Amino acid sequence: MKEHNEWVSEKWQNLEVRYRVRKILQELKTDFQHMMLLDSYEYGKMLLLDGIVQTTEKDEFIYHEMMTHVPLLSHPNPQKVLIIGGGDGGVLREVLRHDSVKKAAIVEIDPEVISFCNEHLPLISNGAFDDGRTDLIIADGADHIRKTDERYDIIIVDSSDPAGPAQILFSEQFYRDIYNALRPGGIMVRQTGSTQIQAEEQRQAYGLLKDIFQYNSFYLYPVPTYVGGFFSTIFCSDTIDPKTIDIKNITERFNLNKLRTKYYSPEIHSGAFHIPPFLEENYL
Ligand code: SAM
Repeated sequence: MKEHNEWVSEKWQNLEVRYRVRKILQELKTDFQHMMLLDSYEYGKMLLLDGIVQTTEKDEFIYHEMMTHVPLLSHPNPQKVLIIGGGDGGVLREVLRHDSVKKAAIVEIDPEVISFCNEHLPLISNGAFDDGRTDLIIADGADHIRKTDERYDIIIVDSSDPAGPAQILFSEQFYRDIYNALRPGGIMVRQTGSTQIQAEEQRQAYGLLKDIFQYNSFYLYPVPTYVGGFFSTIFCSDTIDPKTIDIKNITERFNLNKLRTKYYSPEIHSGAFHIPPFLEENYL
């Protein structure tokens, strides 16, 4: 087959990353955002929303494992989980691997992301949307969290970056509504972008959340297609300080669930909360 030399760019304010692609497989405008699916040489199929890489076949497991197993294994008995965003189904897939989970609600604003990923990237959700414990809600996550009277042990905000429909998922009101939707002992995690080109997002998130939750800690891990250094997630709880959790407890829960993971491990979990000094001072 003739080698294809098309390149597709992901553009940030002062940074552009190009991916060599065999083909642009799909490109469409939904009611909420521009969606593109690439067949790339390096990362396999790649989903972009409004020009930003959301997930790829080759490295999706890192993000989905770290966004899920860190909060769930930090909690003694996570039964009810809420995912806001996450239309590709990767976080949902990992949540459902925990035997303690009785219900996994997922609130996604754009149904076309779900149908698109089910069709073109089926292994990311891997049937999770058909699981009897899944409760799929098509709505704006900010709207839903304000109105719901459900209470959750874990809330995972797997939204796109603060632009377009996701903008509101970075507001103080949203975080306060999340706090109210957590059961006692609950945990919230949210992606807070890469440490180099989205440091301002980490500062803003920490600035809002430290006045709402008792414990607010970043954890870092590498996601090659989330460009700009380490990728960050903030872990928020009133009762659980992730930096002091006994790794023995995490290991016990990990083994109890018979989890088989490719990036996550109890040691990685514990180490991820040790932030390099130059970044630590960035956030405080
Ligand atoms: N892992 C990616 C990241 O870290 O940027 C996020 C992946 S997931 C595809 C992001 C999802 O958030 C998209 O499906 C998008 O439609 C959804 N989303 C954006 N704004 C939303 C909102 N206000 N309520 C619910 N879902 C939203």
